[in-house]
Amino acid sequence: MSHLSGQSVVITGASSGIGEATAKLLAAKGAQVMLGARRQERLQDLAQAIEKDGGKATYQTVDVTQQDQVEALAQAALDAYGKIDIWINNAGLMPLSRLDKLRVEEWDKIVDVNIKGVLYGIAAALPPMQAANRGHIVNISSVAGHKVFPGGAVYCASKFAVRVISEGLRQEIGGNIRCTIISPGAVATELTDSVKDPDASKQMDQVYDVAIKPEAIAEAIAYAVEQPDEVDINEIMVRPTAQE
Ligand code: NDP
Repeated sequence: MSHLSGQSVVITGASSGIGEATAKLLAAKGAQVMLGARRQERLQDLAQAIEKDGGKATYQTVDVTQQDQVEALAQAALDAYGKIDIWINNAGLMPLSRLDKLRVEEWDKIVDVNIKGVLYGIAAALPPMQAANRGHIVNISSVAGHKVFPGGAVYCASKFAVRVISEGLRQEIGGNIRCTIISPGAVATELTDSVKDPDASKQMDQVYDVAIKPEAIAEAIAYAVEQPDEVDINEIMVRPTAQE
């Protein structure tokens, strides 16, 4: 029997890309998944597809920039499955642009979704995990959480922040609650649709020529969450072989 059998997993940003692939894989391995994102129809279709394949899935719309909605997502998982074993903070966006373009609204969005959204996820997941004295929080950072590039200052800052928050969480909570950072390189998803600046968009096209499938990242997440409770995979970086 898989280690994931009967585990309750909340995934934010489950309506596409890495979140969707992860939901499918973990459900196929026996997890009960709670899908969160803003696009209800996508979530509904995914939940139906997982159930059709014999898995267990339900969904709740959530905007991760709204703390009350993230709390409601946690409550929906507790109502449906009675516990939260694993919480995956995956929702994110990447509107790249050089700082002197002054796309301040996009900076706000990056901070709100990629940083505050992760913090709200931690705030929602920790109390039930601490009550159960068991849990695993997985935060999706990036190769961009390790190095900055032109056009990526704010996005990279958000992904550096995700790694710092994750490591702080690991040190502070320790004990029986695990924390894993996943740092993907270029992955073929809808993420690049969030790049609206034409110069950044051109730059991204080159990088994403070699992008790998989101299923590769789902496999890395599955590896981390399938370990025995006493083993905490702190970080996994997964790049396309051909990425610089
Ligand atoms: P997608 O654009 O396919 O997925 C992003 C997900 O985030 C969507 O499901 C979207 O759903 C959700 N989302 C965005 N804003 C919000 C919000 N305010 N509230 C709730 N959900 C939100 O991209 P990826 O799958 O690639 O991205 C997943 C994560 O992986 C992100 O954190 C990204 O930064 C990270 N990453 C991706 C890489 C890549 O190359 N693709 C590389 C490194 C890291 P909806 O619009 O329905 O709300």
